[in-house]
Amino acid sequence: CSSGGVLVYSDSNPLKRTLTADGQETKKKKVVVLGSGWGGYSFLSYLNNPNYDVQVVSPRNFFLFTPLLPSVTNGTVEARSIVEPIRGLMRKKGFEYTEAECVKIDASNKKILCRSKDGASSGVKDTKEFDMDYDVLVIAVGAKPNTFNTPGVEENAHFLKEAEDALKIRQSVINSFERASLPDLTEEERKKILHFVVVGGGPTGVEFSAELHDFLVEDVAKIYPKVQEFTRITLLEAGDHILNMFDKRITAFAEEKFQRDGIDLKTKNMVVGVTADEISTKEIATGKIVSEPYGMVVWSTGIGIRPVIKEFMHQIGQGQRRVLATDEWLRVEGCDSVYALGDTATINQRRVMEDIAAIFSKADKGETGTLNKKEFKSVVKDICQRYPQVELYLKKKKLRNIANLLKSANGDDTEVNIETFKQAFSEVDTQMKNLPATAQVASQQGKYLAKCFNKMEKCEKKPEGPLRFRGEGRHRFQPFRYRHFGSFAPLGGEQTAAELPGDWVSIGHSSQWLWYSVYASKLVSWRTRSLVVSDWVRRFIFGRDSSS
Ligand code: FAD
Ligand code: MG
Ligand code: MG
Ligand code: MG
Ligand code: MG
Repeated sequence: CSSGGVLVYSDSNPLKRTLTADGQETKKKKVVVLGSGWGGYSFLSYLNNPNYDVQVVSPRNFFLFTPLLPSVTNGTVEARSIVEPIRGLMRKKGFEYTEAECVKIDASNKKILCRSKDGASSGVKDTKEFDMDYDVLVIAVGAKPNTFNTPGVEENAHFLKEAEDALKIRQSVINSFERASLPDLTEEERKKILHFVVVGGGPTGVEFSAELHDFLVEDVAKIYPKVQEFTRITLLEAGDHILNMFDKRITAFAEEKFQRDGIDLKTKNMVVGVTADEISTKEIATGKIVSEPYGMVVWSTGIGIRPVIKEFMHQIGQGQRRVLATDEWLRVEGCDSVYALGDTATINQRRVMEDIAAIFSKADKGETGTLNKKEFKSVVKDICQRYPQVELYLKKKKLRNIANLLKSANGDDTEVNIETFKQAFSEVDTQMKNLPATAQVASQQGKYLAKCFNKMEKCEKKPEGPLRFRGEGRHRFQPFRYRHFGSFAPLGGEQTAAELPGDWVSIGHSSQWLWYSVYASKLVSWRTRSLVVSDWVRRFIFGRDSSS
């Protein structure tokens, strides 16, 4: 508002105000972003809309490059090399950051409750609680390690999720070797201390086992030659195979390599409890329970939902679900102005069969009850764009396009009626899959959402879009589409398995180099990139640092 020709801001900070097209001054929309991980950081890096007042809330004032976290556990890479302070990005973009954890989301009042971290390490013990309003909330808080309520895990096992976890593991591994080297221990005692157990045969558990094994053969053998013979690594997996999300060839290669390396691989074994000295497993086929002494357990069996999100889900009527659901535009279902991405959420994909009648009647312009070639062609593009499962289905059936799919249902008839149309798509929805909880997905979602936010005003003014089904004209943006660029599974000994798009599998030393270069290029800044590359070079020349 202006008084006597002088601008007076009711909100004292001019940065929080903006001019509209007709010269009116309005308060900027306040976008609160929860989390500074893959999803949050990517969203913030691509967000370029001066009309937003952006507030970031995260207990962690840095981004963590998680794919290299297993390499921190044995000192191949330093923790400092894979974190990027968030303050730099904040300054560059003019965003604000608050180091706190969101402990409650109050969606009906558009408010969150935050709690500052206690600075226990710096001697400050008290925490502060405060409210924060939002106009738009972006939830990217990730997930927490899942213990499946197995007794004793929380108290006795290590997790591998955050930078400090990796540092603790590193310290604990080295301490184990120092303790096992003390005089007057029995052979049994040394064996117990040096028994490393990894629970979970997913990519993280496998990579950690491989890193640990490399450390044992390449470094420990030289540094602790007297106790090396007592070391043992056990990898426990409840399922039939490790790396079961990968191609069978990769699983087989990994299992064989681990066997050759002397890693004790036990599949079909479920951990039922961990005490301070023993880990108990149940053999799934027989139900037999065995307890073994151990020195250190690393728990990596997947992720679970954070309590603050669980509570939020109850509030908005998603209490029955396992994960927070969004639509394909990443908007949280049952709640206004709240978006969610990354590990914390999953996209509730629409079924083609649910919409099939609507799709058909939209496409049938002349209302003739059949689709002619032209009508059919125009609807095909929309379907492919709107329903990702169609593409997967065509790939699986080795069909080039929907026309072929229809041909198999309709023969050579050029006109398509609703029945054949339905029949052609009847199995498509079986290909619906939730996206994996990966950095690749979270960062693509962050980028996608930022791009939507960047053109929000334009789209609000011109609310037409490419999507015409089910009254969805009001959605101005194309839905999020994931592009898979492939996955890696480092297996130790400078060997990596790579599964690339197009069914391309490569295993060995060449993929290791591909892995090095892909991850170096994915690092978020030249600073971290140069730090990581120099860590790798240092390790090649001097070996790993073994001080704890
Ligand atoms: P995160 O990256 O976990 O970020 C969550 C953020 O939210 C953090 O900043 C956290 O501090 C903050 N936060 C937590 N609670 C709150 C709260 N209450 N309020 C506010 N902020 C909060 N994926 C791959 O694609 N390739 C890999 O090679 C790979 N390797 C991995 C290796 C390891 C060891 C691990 C643990 C994961 C790996 N992943 C990999 C998975 C990948 O890290 C996750 O999928 C990704 O981090 C998900 O991003 P996100 O933004 O959802 O969560
Ligand atoms: Mg995040
Ligand atoms: Mg992260
Ligand atoms: Mg996460
Ligand atoms: Mg997700």
